[in-house]
Amino acid sequence: MAGSEKTRIVVVGAEGRMGRMIRRLAEEEENFVLAGLVDREETLAGLKDCGIPAARDLEELAAEVSGAVVIDFTTPEASMGTARIAAVHRIPLVIGTTGFSEAQKAELRELARKTPLFWSANMSVGVNVLLRLLPELARALGPAYDMEMVEIHHGRKKDAPSGTALALGERLAEARGWALPEVRCSARDGMIGARPHAEIGIQAVRGGDVVGVHTVYFLGPGERIEVTHQAHSRENFAGGALRAARWLATRAPGRLYSMEDTFDRQADDRGN
Ligand code: NAD
Repeated sequence: MAGSEKTRIVVVGAEGRMGRMIRRLAEEEENFVLAGLVDREETLAGLKDCGIPAARDLEELAAEVSGAVVIDFTTPEASMGTARIAAVHRIPLVIGTTGFSEAQKAELRELARKTPLFWSANMSVGVNVLLRLLPELARALGPAYDMEMVEIHHGRKKDAPSGTALALGERLAEARGWALPEVRCSARDGMIGARPHAEIGIQAVRGGDVVGVHTVYFLGPGERIEVTHQAHSRENFAGGALRAARWLATRAPGRLYSMEDTFDRQADDRGN
């Protein structure tokens, strides 16, 4: 895409916490234009007077948003619906929703063959750097260091552990040659006995208005390392989603893209 060309954006989940932040940033930044808004019937009334086409699902807007990129932060079921419509109409789609089942992720990979499709459980630069660096740390420390994680989020978050914790956990497991579903422990209670060597604990804390904190512990003989990422606001995620949309606008369908695919380009954009 030419540097000066504006990217037209449709926001699905437009009245949600992330949706509202994405709309605000898109209005502030000169590279973007809001082309459409989608949310549930119950919340649509608030969107009808804003001068931007609004609808209950992407299908209703598909004809008028040709050339736009859709950004969806909703629920797994709603995002699957959006992805199916996007695949039929060949509309590029960035998904930030978390909590997908393995079957839903497999369907997303399939739909990515028909339209440019992007999914990332965390759109922040910091977490995506951690996704690269944590496996190196795990390998450098070696098998004597147990790996555990605690994540904290606001009390209205629907899924646990967070999508980010699962993504970080997958990388840690891979670094040891394990599969996360086989080694994840997300509850300890009662006479649990000694901790198995092949285990990664991921515990979820919920409350207040915490945007997102992830701490990974490497617990070894006589010492431990703690690596913490703290999201201070949703702006970081929303900015990442908009950069992903701009990146996706010029991509062909093929495979399910993620933040890491855009990563080197973003480092350039940040002047690194
Ligand atoms: P939220 O509950 O505040 O907003 C969700 C919005 O989706 C609501 O406005 C709701 O009305 C709308 N919605 C639900 N079902 C719908 C449907 N069928 N059609 C249209 N709209 C529908 O939630 P949130 O805090 O904005 O988070 C949304 C998702 O994004 C969650 O899965 C969360 O974990 C994830 N998230 C991801 C990142 C990231 O970086 N990838 C960051 C923050 C949140």
